[in-house]
Amino acid sequence: MTEDRSPRLTWTEEDAPRSGRFGDVYFSREDGLAETRAVFLAGCGLPDAWAGRRHFTVAELGFGTGLNIATLLDLWRKARPSGGRLHIFSVEGYPLSRDEAARALAAWPELAEPVEALLAAWPAPTPGMHRLDLPGFDATFDLAIGEVEPVLEAWMGRADAWFLDGFAPSTNPGMWSDGVMDLIAARSAPDARVATFTVAGMVRRGLSERGFTVEKKPGHGRKRERLEARLHGEPQADTSPRVAIIGGGIAGASLARAFSQAGHPAVLVEAEEIGAGASGFPAALVTPRLDAGNRAIAGLYAAALERAGRLYAAVPDAVLETAVHQLEHMPRDTVRFAKVAAQDLWPEGSMTMPPAGGLMMRDAMAVRPRPILETWLAGIERLEARVGKIERIGTHWRMIGTGGETLLEADVVILAAGWGNAALDPGLPLSPVGGQADWVEGATTSPMAWGGYAVPTDGGLLFGATHERGVTDAVVTPEASAKNRETLARVLPDLAAQIAETPTQARAAVRATMPDRLPVAGQLEAGLYVLGGLGSRGFCAAPLLAEHVVALALGIPSPIAADQAARVNPLRFVSGEGLAQPQPTVDG
Ligand code: SAM
Repeated sequence: MTEDRSPRLTWTEEDAPRSGRFGDVYFSREDGLAETRAVFLAGCGLPDAWAGRRHFTVAELGFGTGLNIATLLDLWRKARPSGGRLHIFSVEGYPLSRDEAARALAAWPELAEPVEALLAAWPAPTPGMHRLDLPGFDATFDLAIGEVEPVLEAWMGRADAWFLDGFAPSTNPGMWSDGVMDLIAARSAPDARVATFTVAGMVRRGLSERGFTVEKKPGHGRKRERLEARLHGEPQADTSPRVAIIGGGIAGASLARAFSQAGHPAVLVEAEEIGAGASGFPAALVTPRLDAGNRAIAGLYAAALERAGRLYAAVPDAVLETAVHQLEHMPRDTVRFAKVAAQDLWPEGSMTMPPAGGLMMRDAMAVRPRPILETWLAGIERLEARVGKIERIGTHWRMIGTGGETLLEADVVILAAGWGNAALDPGLPLSPVGGQADWVEGATTSPMAWGGYAVPTDGGLLFGATHERGVTDAVVTPEASAKNRETLARVLPDLAAQIAETPTQARAAVRATMPDRLPVAGQLEAGLYVLGGLGSRGFCAAPLLAEHVVALALGIPSPIAADQAARVNPLRFVSGEGLAQPQPTVDG
């Protein structure tokens, strides 16, 4: 049974939402918008506080209906610094449905545009962080569903401004606990502002004991007083590093997209055409790694799938077909699938067990790699060259070509070259897995996976793939084609018979995996980052993990939780004496 996380809404006579769980209204219907502006926006010194900033982060405790965030977006749109990006983080333990929020926010027609953007992005109420796009606002929004304290513990961002909007401390002490106060201080940028409607002593003391200067201000409307607080310290200067991405597959394209979204240019270095490596097949599966035992890993893939699905849906012609049927191929699979389907990490109806067996993954999909790579790399500066090695020169990095020539210098370099990453950083414990997939025209299937896979292409069927551990050269062989046909015949004999006489086309590529089969995404050393080890799940994991790497490189909030970041940290195998033992994981 999953926990009841409903806010138990009722509606007042003025049609304002009221939380049955906390016995309080979210806002006053007659005055809510003006109060939000006075208490939270003006209380945090906005818009002046973000003047001249390239990146500004607002964190809110208590997302509720989204009124505060819609009001913030409205102000950002009207009074944002030129070229600036707004990063919003909010936490909600008892999420409203989209319909409930739409009803609540209908009270403020002047917020129609930001409200529409928020409602369009409204995520399923699954626990964990949801990265949401707000097109047209130059803002990213990470909404964390969960209890405030563990959520803040896991948040990797630093807030420039805080909206503390739990229900009153008297009815909602959990939102104002010492632990929460500690985390507010720990997750604050220098010079951070705090605004709240309450002047309760515990809140005033809590903030001032943690280094904030606290001031009572005249309240709005019927409220007598409100609170403003400010942390000491100079705000950090924004940096504008020169960025180079090495590799033009799904990892590199996802990084390029994330840098563009963050408003930073990046140069993509790639010797061959785009998608020349493991991202170059006519179709790709977007499937999560299933993990029945480890919640951090399962949650990371649930978030990655949600993010990838949203982003691919926004690319014209990217999606071939949604829903992937995962078939049993090991005796324990039925039990494992049942555990996965019961996890609360997936949206309602996302993971189901059809009567025919297997696991139906409604939100998984088959996509066309080409339009995705082309769309995400459009307008990105490209350098056509093969990087032989990289060298640190003082505080930056030099990329050197295979003939010893200097190609490019950059402050931030990100290795995103698949198996090529192993040569650029020999310390990374990557292993190669050679693989071939075959395709035919004239037959097709809905997407299926079982270790092998069969997926539709435009007018055809792609199936495979072979897994040759240790193989580093990508050559198509008739033996591999025969093997792929055999695998298909074992699982889908009718389909295999249908194409028995049809010659296949084929492609081979090298995937790279880490010892624990988890991706590698993060910092290697100052200015040097990696996104790799994606194995055969690159199209699922890369878009979200790229945003994580870009966040680390630019000092902006990451969309993943700290315990998930630790799982993919490139240094997880490094101990004082060299390579550490891989952490055991219960692989699904
Ligand atoms: N800012 C909201 C708006 O603009 O509509 C109103 C927030 S309402 C006053 C307080 C919110 O905090 C509620 O949505 C409630 O569910 C949430 N909340 C209360 N206690 C919480 C906790 N311990 N963890 C997470 N969220 C909590």
